[in-house]
Amino acid sequence: MSRKRIYLFWDADPNDKGLFGGKGAGLAGMCALGLPVPPGFIITTEVCNEYSATKRLPNGLMEGVAESVKVIEEDTGKTFGRGANPLLFSVRSGAKFSMPGMMDTILNLGLNAETLGTLMKATGNERFALDSYRRFIQIFGNVVLGIKHDTFEAELSGMRDEENVKEDHQLLPQHLTKLIERYRAVVQREAKADIPEDPMEQLRMAMTAVFESWNNPRAVTYRNTYKIPHDLGTAVNVQAMVFGNMGDDSGTGVAFSRNPSTGENRIYGEFLMNAQGEDVVAGIRTPLKIDEMKQRMPAVADELFGYIHKLDSHFKDMQDVEFTVERGKLYVLQTRTGKRTGQAAVRIAVELAREGVIDKPTALLRVEPLALNQILHKQIDRSTNPRKIAEGLNASPGAAIGKIAFTADEAVERAKDGEKIVLVRAETNPDDIHGLISATGVLTARGGMTSHAAVVARGMGKPCVAGCSALVIDEDAKTLSVKGKSYSSSDTITIDGTTGDVFEGACNLIEPSVGDDLREFLSWADEFRRLKVRANADTPSDARKAYEFGAQGIGLCRTEHMFFKPERIPVVQAMILSADRTEREEHLKKLLAMQRDDFVGIFREMKGNPVTIRLLDPPLHEFLPKDDEQIERVVEEFIATKGGGKSEQMKKALKAKIRATEEANPMLGLRGCRLGIVYPEINEMQVEAIISAALNVEAEGMHVKPEIMIPLVGTVAELKHIKPLLVEVAERTMKAAGRRVEYMLGTMIEVPRAALTAGEIALEAEFFSFGTNDLTQMTLGISRDDAEQKFLHFYVEKKIYPVNPFEEIDRAGVGRLIKMAVDEGRAVKPNLKIGICGEHGGDPESVKFCHEAGLDYVSCSPFRVPIARLAAAQAALEGKQSAAVSSST
Ligand code: ADP
Ligand code: MG
Ligand code: MG
Repeated sequence: MSRKRIYLFWDADPNDKGLFGGKGAGLAGMCALGLPVPPGFIITTEVCNEYSATKRLPNGLMEGVAESVKVIEEDTGKTFGRGANPLLFSVRSGAKFSMPGMMDTILNLGLNAETLGTLMKATGNERFALDSYRRFIQIFGNVVLGIKHDTFEAELSGMRDEENVKEDHQLLPQHLTKLIERYRAVVQREAKADIPEDPMEQLRMAMTAVFESWNNPRAVTYRNTYKIPHDLGTAVNVQAMVFGNMGDDSGTGVAFSRNPSTGENRIYGEFLMNAQGEDVVAGIRTPLKIDEMKQRMPAVADELFGYIHKLDSHFKDMQDVEFTVERGKLYVLQTRTGKRTGQAAVRIAVELAREGVIDKPTALLRVEPLALNQILHKQIDRSTNPRKIAEGLNASPGAAIGKIAFTADEAVERAKDGEKIVLVRAETNPDDIHGLISATGVLTARGGMTSHAAVVARGMGKPCVAGCSALVIDEDAKTLSVKGKSYSSSDTITIDGTTGDVFEGACNLIEPSVGDDLREFLSWADEFRRLKVRANADTPSDARKAYEFGAQGIGLCRTEHMFFKPERIPVVQAMILSADRTEREEHLKKLLAMQRDDFVGIFREMKGNPVTIRLLDPPLHEFLPKDDEQIERVVEEFIATKGGGKSEQMKKALKAKIRATEEANPMLGLRGCRLGIVYPEINEMQVEAIISAALNVEAEGMHVKPEIMIPLVGTVAELKHIKPLLVEVAERTMKAAGRRVEYMLGTMIEVPRAALTAGEIALEAEFFSFGTNDLTQMTLGISRDDAEQKFLHFYVEKKIYPVNPFEEIDRAGVGRLIKMAVDEGRAVKPNLKIGICGEHGGDPESVKFCHEAGLDYVSCSPFRVPIARLAAAQAALEGKQSAAVSSST
């Protein structure tokens, strides 16, 4: 091995996080900038890999360590673990990517019987020395000797009880001396050994422990979760200790160069007087705001603030800085790219780019697209420790607070009176739509991510927690019980659709701010992306939201969602129950008027952008009730519209008709284009509504681009069968108006056979739109709702699927079909317009795939449009620029 294994901080390359780890590189960088960093050296990640391969430290390593120790001794004028002025070390791990909690840092290394005595004398602070030693035994015992942390904690709390004190720092020197004896006994008992007195031996063992920790189960799991390679290794940083616990002119703290929650360009941090390292994060004492440091230690504060600004502009990003003050002298112990909220991420990126510190592509690559979710939805303020009562699926992000309503009607009534309502249902069905509209959020005991409630809530940008199985809902008694506690209509709850949590009472909410920063940021994304972004929207108000968020059209308008409105459902039901075509057409005529108005509204909102409208897709039973009582009611109502007085036999026949719409496997039953083939008059009505709406809006002077989309095609023969009628209706409608509109006729690709025969289908279709929800279901042979309820989490846990294929496109299977269809379709029609309208269109990884596969656009729910815009820009940029997203250390 030719490379050096050990580097002094001031000799290491600050840019080489791979070799020195993030922490080491940061320390090297700060040394190069002339900041007061306690001196030390780094043992490289390559040594860790050697260790992992051979299970021993390389030959000659400890000699090198001894030489480096000597350099630090000379630099500090102290001697390691002995002498009148003893030098102590911290031994810190640090991989290329930060892995918090993977491994503890060992502080105060070099303490032993001798140095304990000299430290007491040198500092004149007996308590400080004893406390440092106690901590050292505990950390060394835990990290190096593998003794459970709890074993020490038990002794510590035992001592507190014996001496009748509440907190550790109230223990007096004589108590600490006793405690140290007990700690030693623990080490003897558990490890059958003593902590070595020899400081170099302590150091050797500590280094080995850090290397070992690279492969401990915690670390391996962490790397698997965050897709960090296992062969990176960790570096070891050996650094001279400084002490923030030496009295009231000492302290320790953490500061951010910008506010990590808002992004404001102002230093934000916390500080504890007379404390060491982990005391700040451990939360034993409440720290002071960093601004108070200005009063307590003005000179030190000035110096610190200067360094923090320097680090921020050097690393061109927000920094998270650890510092310690020892008897009035400031030391900086760590700097790294700080973690931040979505809002802060956008503000910081935008401000840095505006100042010209970074360029726009860099700014765009710095923000995780999904982090925008946090900006676009209200959030629960967790710092107030709200009481969580249950957990379900995080079906639609955002937080909602309200009193409980147990039925949709109740929700509507009470909302009218100004009450905020959370609709709580065992499950929701299409009849509940008005309740969903009136409620601020929805909570269901059953149902998965595609359950009606979830889909509709997401579409509306309304928070939803679904499948919360701990809930017991008694609709009649109007109670909700969970874990033995019962809630009624007068109780308030809060749901967090971002996490799936349900809380008792009204939590504090933090307002989202879709401000100028985000708008500007997304306009930059638009400069760089190739993919267009459309929205899935079914109503004019959804369309308006989509347009506000920057949608360049509608990729999926689900006409059936218009049928679910309470005043329309009876008409749809009557249409289904009609005896013959003539009767059916009568009801369809009523629906036509309603649909035309909807389309007019949507076209207007989209201001000349294309709108893809899907012909009726779901199986008819979705419009009909299931239980006897409701069936009875629907039949009565239907008969009433026909003047009533029908025979019992007629009633029976109607009920049988309703029953007959039920299917053994609706997903694969009479739905999609099959409906239009069996009942062509439904298609006729819809096409007439679309074309006449387009004619109306064009008459107002706005250009309209309707795209009529046929769902669930599996063979070109279906398309050939359906098309002539649609064209005829369109022509007839235009002729009657005496004007023409441009429209397109295309198809969804969601049946695997359609993807496999895309070349044939493209000859009959003007566009393709991948319905990746059904395509995934049919390609994988699993039904989403069943899978998410019953086994999908298990599959993901066991890594049978790397991720949920309904959230992120399964590239190898579904993705392959998509690519094949794109290639074959474009081979016969080079300009074939191709998009995706499944929910994947709002998933950043899937957006990246769509970019690579050469699609023209993605379409997703309105609230995901900003995410898709950013993801599309990143996909385009990542192709060109390999400058990686700035990684945290
Ligand atoms: P982490 O990676 O978990 O942040 P660190 O290696 O930064 O772990 O160490 C944890 C704590 O120990 C830090 O908060 C720091 O204040 C303290 N610490 C580390 N090295 C030293 C040192 N040389 N002198 C004083 N305190 C130190
Ligand atoms: Mg740290
Ligand atoms: Mg479908």
